[in-house]
Amino acid sequence: MPARWVSALTRLALWLAVAVVLGGVFGAMSWWLSGALALYLAYTLNRLYHLDQVLQGRKGYGLAGTTGLWAELFGRVDSFQVKAKRRKKKYNQLLREIRESTGALHDAGIILNPDREIVWFNKAAVRLLGLDRSKDVGQRIDNLVRHPDFIAYLEAGGEPVTIPSPVDGEGRLAVQVIPYGSGQSLTIIQDVTRQTLLERSRRDFVANASHELRSPLTVISGYLDAMAEEPELQPQWGKPIGEMNRQTERMMALVEELIELSRLESSEGDAERELVKVPELLRILCQEYDASPDSPAVKLELESDAALLGNEAAVQSIFRNLLSNAVRFTASTGEVVISWRSDSDGAECTVSDTGIGIPEEAIPRVTERFFRVDPGRGRPAGGTGLGLAIVKHALQRHGGSLSISSTLGEGSSFTCRFPADRVVHRGG
Ligand code: ADP
Repeated sequence: MPARWVSALTRLALWLAVAVVLGGVFGAMSWWLSGALALYLAYTLNRLYHLDQVLQGRKGYGLAGTTGLWAELFGRVDSFQVKAKRRKKKYNQLLREIRESTGALHDAGIILNPDREIVWFNKAAVRLLGLDRSKDVGQRIDNLVRHPDFIAYLEAGGEPVTIPSPVDGEGRLAVQVIPYGSGQSLTIIQDVTRQTLLERSRRDFVANASHELRSPLTVISGYLDAMAEEPELQPQWGKPIGEMNRQTERMMALVEELIELSRLESSEGDAERELVKVPELLRILCQEYDASPDSPAVKLELESDAALLGNEAAVQSIFRNLLSNAVRFTASTGEVVISWRSDSDGAECTVSDTGIGIPEEAIPRVTERFFRVDPGRGRPAGGTGLGLAIVKHALQRHGGSLSISSTLGEGSSFTCRFPADRVVHRGG
């Protein structure tokens, strides 16, 4: 038993012993004992009353005149209160610092509860989204920011989205939602207006420069054709003119692809929804590539007659680029298979070849502009380095995706997947 309890019980025993002695000397023992117990009870109740007042934080109550067990109890309560005060002060200080630092952030931060209601937001959220502290705390965020891309992102997650600013028509905001705890989330909103404008001017510059190059190249190509056909041309000019012609054609192909890529990058929103008869399109493309004697065999496997709702030129460009790559990077003894299938989740086109393959570390990079696995090997075969970048962008505009698998020396497989809402099943 702890010493303080031994001492408290000893005191009670002594108190009762005094009552017994006085009862023995003066008689009426039970009165003496009852009196002693009543006094002890009164003292205990008085201490309890003081303790209750101390716990309620009242001033003027406490240790005065207290000894033994009660002194220790009061001491402990006092030290708990001092600690709690210190902790409260520390948390208040921390909270102030968090408020000040989040207030100084350029990015908006909004805390949402599991029902997507706003719990808290910083100063930047007032500036970027026009939120109002007096009205908007407790409101659902999708009632205040109503852009469909944002709502779809809130519901389905996925890649962060960029939306127009609700307070400034020209502004663009990048939104990212970070879930935490049990259903809460932190929404971070960044002003990307400047980056968007820079990106747009870079795209415009490339598109304009490409357009400007088109006419002079056409003129040069025309003159070179005429010179090549000139009967009086001295024989030593035959080779240089042929080479100039090839290089001009390469530049023209590059300019055309740059224009196509800029057009895809700058078109806002989803691709159109024209009916694209994929099986027919693939048949024509296969015939084009199967005709050349230096090409590998091109096989078409049509497992579906589904059509697509999309932009016909873009869909054609996707398949043409994949097929042209497969043929270019496969020996004439190899084989290229292009297949088309569909199910309730959508449709997919796979172009597989038994060609040179792509090293594993290069696979994630092949859709970058001008990326070539081996800069020497794409060029002589007529590539521009833009084909797969065009495929990726054209697919994105159709809500689709590209997946690539390849084994070096064995072949590659490129699969384009189109979402179900773009697929039209025909003939039942
Ligand atoms: P390129 O005009 O150079 O073909 P692409 O963007 O179409 O440009 O392709 C980028 C690079 O990816 C190519 O240079 C090549 O290294 C690699 N690649 C693309 N398709 C294939 C394929 N079917 N087999 C092997 N390598 C490929």
